[in-house]
Amino acid sequence: MISSRSFAKKLIQWSAENPRNYPWIGERDPYKIWISEILLQQTRSDQAKNYYEQFISTFPTLNMLTNSTEDEVLNLWKGLGYYSRARNLYQTARIIQEHYHSKFPNQYQDILSLKGIGSYTAAAISSFAYNQAYSVVDGNVIRLLSRVFGITKSIQDAAGKKYFQNFAQNLLDKKNPALYNQAIMNFGALVCLPQKPQCNTCIFKKNCIAHTTNEISKYPSKSAKLKIKKRYFHYFLVKNKHGKIPIRKRTESDIWKHLYEFPMIETEKKHEYIKSNTELASQLGLQDNTDFKISKLGEKRHKLSHQELMINYYLLENVAFKPKIKALFSFVKPENLVNFAFPKATDLILDYINT
Ligand code: SF4
Repeated sequence: MISSRSFAKKLIQWSAENPRNYPWIGERDPYKIWISEILLQQTRSDQAKNYYEQFISTFPTLNMLTNSTEDEVLNLWKGLGYYSRARNLYQTARIIQEHYHSKFPNQYQDILSLKGIGSYTAAAISSFAYNQAYSVVDGNVIRLLSRVFGITKSIQDAAGKKYFQNFAQNLLDKKNPALYNQAIMNFGALVCLPQKPQCNTCIFKKNCIAHTTNEISKYPSKSAKLKIKKRYFHYFLVKNKHGKIPIRKRTESDIWKHLYEFPMIETEKKHEYIKSNTELASQLGLQDNTDFKISKLGEKRHKLSHQELMINYYLLENVAFKPKIKALFSFVKPENLVNFAFPKATDLILDYINT
């Protein structure tokens, strides 16, 4: 088995010979590292790059982020998904402003205590910004370590996770934690891939237990298959003679919390909602107001990590707004909708309005 010293040395050497060209590589500002790591949590590097550049040019400092509104941050996040990342980012910036006088904390435990920051992100910030010896451990790192060292421990229980955390920490090059962490992140993302690892050209091919025993599929221990929940949404673009469009902010503990949406109904089955104009009006809060015209704008399937949404889009015309709908919604001129953060799933309606 390869020694921890040679493992780290080979990795760092490989990284120097295979540099990656992203704006956050080599960054020492903890604020910018934090933004990049949050963006990268669920997003591919190529996609994250554009968002990172836009985010940093809009909010180059933590103070500028705290001087903004949550809606502005959510608007910049549009299309990336996992909006809780943006909400946490905004809240955490305010906490840093309040508790650390707008200076990003420099102790691992303080960083880890911040909302939206787990051990991986805390280790990345601590090592990249302050060269502190904390090893990053995520799915890529676990896959690489389990294969090279033949570790069959499951990562689904706390004991397995702790084992990998300790194992990775022992391998870390304590003198060069930033270089080592960047190298292991890059190697897991570029060479030791989940489905098609590049074993033929891999620097560990002679030492890697998974490769030398021809048992790559055994590592890491398989996780249980994710259960995808199907949901049926029906969105309504509601129009009346005044031209303002009703929207509402999602406040429930559900997907897209704090984003805006058009009046909607969720049903158990695909075509369940439309029994009569009276019922539809009641569900949307349009009581005594059934003399409207309905037409379908389209339908779409929208995939999230744990959910699959089947969405129908409709146009309701000639709607008179009664008191109940006025209380439920904000009424916005079409040209001002751009100031509100909507989930990407409502683009079909926004595109319709803009054409
Ligand atoms: S030899 Fe293959 S499985 Fe082993 S570390 Fe390299 S790429 Fe991964």
